[in-house]
Amino acid sequence: MIVIATTVPKVQKWLEDAFRQYAPHDSYCLADSEQAQSATTAVSWFPNLDHLEKLPELKLIHSMAAGVEHLNLQRIGTQYKVCRVVDQLHQKGMFDYLQWGILYYQRFFDQAFRQKKQQQWRQYPQREHAELKIGIMGLGQMGGYMAKQFAALGYQVSGWSRSPKNIAHVSCYAGDEDFDTFLGQAEILINLLPLTENNQGILSKYLFDLLPEQACIINCGRGQHLVEQDLLNYLDSGRLRGAILDVFAKEPLVENHPLWQHEKVVITPHVASHAPWSVVVNQILENDQRVIQGQALLNQVDTLKGY
Ligand code: NDP
Repeated sequence: MIVIATTVPKVQKWLEDAFRQYAPHDSYCLADSEQAQSATTAVSWFPNLDHLEKLPELKLIHSMAAGVEHLNLQRIGTQYKVCRVVDQLHQKGMFDYLQWGILYYQRFFDQAFRQKKQQQWRQYPQREHAELKIGIMGLGQMGGYMAKQFAALGYQVSGWSRSPKNIAHVSCYAGDEDFDTFLGQAEILINLLPLTENNQGILSKYLFDLLPEQACIINCGRGQHLVEQDLLNYLDSGRLRGAILDVFAKEPLVENHPLWQHEKVVITPHVASHAPWSVVVNQILENDQRVIQGQALLNQVDTLKGY
């Protein structure tokens, strides 16, 4: 039995709709129902842990998405197993989003939008893929996939992770000791890190100083990775060329936030990619069966590492 456990009303509705459509009706229940007492898995987005901890049969807390920072892993510890949802369509969706973002800068569409406002006819160069250096922070299911795909398209790709990686045609860097070298090569820096206590505010002045002149940022990790004021300062000074931001420390981004108005910032409302609801529901149903039978789980999270 799966219990829908979120404190966000909009997400509660999405999950109810998705389970109604894709799951057998007797396989899931609501948090305040009688059946929740027999729930073995909670599908969650900012869950009420006080409530979940009272469910006697609960074994698995399952994020409905790829990120798990909303679950409070420190509190969960090893009490429950934790899983998240990632699949190929999810990766492909992120690839489409990022490909658009890269081309936006590679083919100077940012400049085109500015010039149109001023009715200015000024041509810019056509940059080839092989000339462009892309840096990807995080080489996991998302970042690792993107690195392979963009390298296959002929871009110069480098990536950075915690532990060393070996990916064909990708320059792989790892750990603090490689951080500066990695950043020095990233004309377009893509953040696909999970949010952990080690990397909050990583997209800040220190990092921006290490990037090449006129570098661009694409943040698809989490809003808390970014120090917004540092970004604004570096855009205003001309040191950075632009930023595409999909995630924000506070979502929705508040009215009148300076990022809304900034001409060098593109904002998307946390839509870079999500797995189709059928995939989300099926993976959670599958993991519920697996946890009951004591089998290995799909996309299990290391709660001690935090991702
Ligand atoms: P994974 O857990 O598969 O990969 C995480 C990667 O980040 C790993 O390569 C890991 O290194 C690296 N990493 C973690 N912490 C550090 C650190 N302190 N220093 C250096 N590298 C680090 O996650 P995914 O790739 O599936 O997803 C990553 C994040 O992308 C999600 O947590 C979510 O926040 C975001 N996301 C956003 C979406 C959106 O629509 N905006 C959609 C999907 C995901 P190592 O391999 O060495 O462990």
